[in-house]
Amino acid sequence: METQRFDYIVVGAGSAGCVLANRLTASGRHRVLLLEAGGRDSNIWIHIPLGFGKLFDNAKVNWRYASEPEPELNGRNIIQPRGKVLGGSSSINGLLYIRGQHEDFDHWRQLGNTGWAFADVLPYFRRAEDQQRGADALHGAGGPLAVSDVCEPHPLCEAFIAAAQKAGIPRNDDFNGPRQEGAGYFQLTARNGRRWSTAAGYLKQARGRHNLAVELKALATRLLFDGHRAVGIEYRKGEAVRRAYADGEVILAGGAFNSPQLLQLSGLGPAKILSDLGIAVIADMPGVGADLQDHLQVRMQYRCTEPITMNDVVHQWRHRVAAGLRYAVTRKGLLAIGAGYAGAFLRTRPEVATPDVQIHFLIFSTETAGAALHKFSGFMASVCQLRPESRGFVRIKSADPAVAPAIQPRYLTSRADCDTLVAGLNRLRAVMEQPQMRRYIAEERMPGSDCRSDAELLAYARGNGTTVYHPTSTCRMGSDPAAVVDARLRVHGFEALRVVDASIMPTLVSGNTNAAAVMIGEKGADMILEDAAARTPVALPA
Ligand SMILES: Cc1cc2nc3c(=O)[nH]c(=O)nc-3n(C[C@H](O)[C@H](O)[C@H](O)COP(=O)(O)OP(=O)(O)OC[C@H]3O[C@@H](n4cnc5c(N)ncnc54)[C@H](O)[C@@H]3O)c2cc1C
Repeated sequence: METQRFDYIVVGAGSAGCVLANRLTASGRHRVLLLEAGGRDSNIWIHIPLGFGKLFDNAKVNWRYASEPEPELNGRNIIQPRGKVLGGSSSINGLLYIRGQHEDFDHWRQLGNTGWAFADVLPYFRRAEDQQRGADALHGAGGPLAVSDVCEPHPLCEAFIAAAQKAGIPRNDDFNGPRQEGAGYFQLTARNGRRWSTAAGYLKQARGRHNLAVELKALATRLLFDGHRAVGIEYRKGEAVRRAYADGEVILAGGAFNSPQLLQLSGLGPAKILSDLGIAVIADMPGVGADLQDHLQVRMQYRCTEPITMNDVVHQWRHRVAAGLRYAVTRKGLLAIGAGYAGAFLRTRPEVATPDVQIHFLIFSTETAGAALHKFSGFMASVCQLRPESRGFVRIKSADPAVAPAIQPRYLTSRADCDTLVAGLNRLRAVMEQPQMRRYIAEERMPGSDCRSDAELLAYARGNGTTVYHPTSTCRMGSDPAAVVDARLRVHGFEALRVVDASIMPTLVSGNTNAAAVMIGEKGADMILEDAAARTPVALPA
């Protein structure tokens, strides 16, 4: 067995992990090992924004998880893609750049997490960003994460935004500005028409540093402890089993499914589940893997009256070639768009203080996520409730680290979630019925005109809803008995062990989760370095 020594070991080179690798090595003083179960981000479709659709089912870059049968979704197993490659999920995601609402972070602070109010986290969002529109009080420029506008308007998106305005939803040209509410175009984590994952933005810059070692295709299988102090990690690389030791800390950044899995495999988790699998329990922590939260989206599908959708481009070779050439030459056009082109954040009831529903508007249509585009001209819009109350779990099913854990978000197990979702679907229909949109709708194909009542819409949601790929909160930050990490992201009851990724969010943010995961990486890195500085002995004058 080979062994190595470092100051810090980071498990997972995803959205947060690449940020950590960069920031922890920047001074040159700390030796860092970054372990990543996946390989290099060399697949061409990673770098072309529209290519995300090609990565849903690609085992070379994706863990391809699926949920257990969902009790309130007619027992369906919901796909759960996760990046398994440099950049993690930021290399396979839909590129939409949304931070969430200011109130989300104020709520985290309100729950007792000192240092996580919006005013506290804003400097980290700003430090991360290279905002195409330039810097101001709410945005940053010159940071490692490129954030850009969509390259050009599209007639369907223009119609959607105008129809939303007619239906009472204001236009909003900056969902990350002072107010999230409204309809407009999304911004993307992209630069010059290329995806800007954290591997591109953070890791590339740090790769040449002498004090950073990156191990690819290295699956962390077990944490190593000296009592309740984390001292290292055991990992598999091919047939070899290796150990690496950390004089400073071990930091888990494996994401909302894998970080709790690794803790459980290492003996930190619900005692009965671990002991039933023959794992020695180091700490009975029922909160490890609990509180899984995710956004459920329900898509409405339309036949378009005009051949202006992406379906039309993809299915006509002349258009396809033209789009390919245009992208090759200008980095613009349909290949440069992300998972949603335009969208809206809205309040389903006037008494709700901030938007409780997000709409993603897509200029193509498919039967299911990642499937081939329809042959007819089509588009879609999806509704998701932003702050779900349903809670699920991640639990290991085997002591073998290569076996996927049981994942069950338990979507729609809260009545409030059902009501908000149905109200959101009704609001979306109200938008689509406005003249600006109606002229483009030949037919609402799904759920269709037979599906009218709230009960019918809910039944449609149960039969067709799927994830927006935003799992969080399985190693939740807090100070209550079920919380896994404290407000400095240290695992409760342990030394030299932190979790720094989307799993620490106390509650799901009201929007897409990559920006918040990057911010957590930025803030986590600062906390680690501050604690290291505090530990450094001060030289006394002679
Ligand atoms: C298909 C899809 C579309 C999405 N669309 C958007 C979007 O448009 N906008 C948005 O904001 N968010 C989007 N998201 C969500 C967003 O990308 C994630 O919330 C975010 O990337 C999570 O970051 P993370 O650091 O927590 O984990 P990840 O980025 O998933 O990183 C975890 C890394 O750890 C590695 N790892 C895990 N376990 C181990 C182990 N045992 N040993 C070694 N390595 C390990 C993984 O391989 C991975 O590279 C999407 C996600 C997906 C999957």
